[in-house]
Amino acid sequence: MDIKIGWLYPKLMSTYGDRGNVICIEKRCQWRDINVTIIPLDQNANTDQFREVDIIVGGGAQDRQQELVMRDLKGAKADVFKEIIENGIPGVFTCGSPQLLGHYYEPALGQKIEGLGILDLVSKHPGINAPRCIGNVVFELTASPLAEDIKFMIGEKPMVIGFENHGGRTYLQSVQPLGKVIKGYGNNGEDGWEGAFYQNAIATYAHGPLLPKNPFIADWLIQKALQNKYQDTVSLAKIDDSLVIQARESLLKKLAIDS
Ligand code: GLN
Repeated sequence: MDIKIGWLYPKLMSTYGDRGNVICIEKRCQWRDINVTIIPLDQNANTDQFREVDIIVGGGAQDRQQELVMRDLKGAKADVFKEIIENGIPGVFTCGSPQLLGHYYEPALGQKIEGLGILDLVSKHPGINAPRCIGNVVFELTASPLAEDIKFMIGEKPMVIGFENHGGRTYLQSVQPLGKVIKGYGNNGEDGWEGAFYQNAIATYAHGPLLPKNPFIADWLIQKALQNKYQDTVSLAKIDDSLVIQARESLLKKLAIDS
């Protein structure tokens, strides 16, 4: 079996270490003898390459880089990107990426950046003097059916641990939240929600990077991609995640959160 990972604008949207999500998916495939190809979905990519990927990973970026991405992610490329999300391609989009998947992102300086309108949400930066949302973030997955799938996979409450660093605040309209904030700011530090979930697209403010700290999400993405590609239910070989579990327990304890 093989999986193609589409990596959104890696040179522009890798400010906060989200390349760790690509590496985590790649390794958890290779450890299971699944071949992996990583395809940069950037200015040099064409619509065929957007169509051929099985999982999409989008990282975080500064306002300026987000504006540069949207100069390119338009027209036929934007149409195909929307089509593959609507058709259920699994993806994980962090911070600056989901801001661009919404209707718009109003940065602290400069013009409003029109988004792709895939996620029914809007994002606004409250201004250069507003404090950034920075720190450890913990939330319980609530999005359906993702939360149920993960609970079945790990046999316990699906708690996600990450690190956030954003100025923009996101406000959900009809799209469902990804989870309920236990610690940290989440989408906007006001409504208690974190991220968004639509079709098989996971949108979150949690860097960390997210997937090495929460490998069950990586396995969910891999499983979805294989099921889509091979039209068959796939059970993944178990990986010894004992070190990750220890690290999570210690972090949750440090943050005074019951796991
Ligand atoms: N530039 C956006 C903001 O400040 C996204 C930041 C990020 O991707 N971490 O909200």
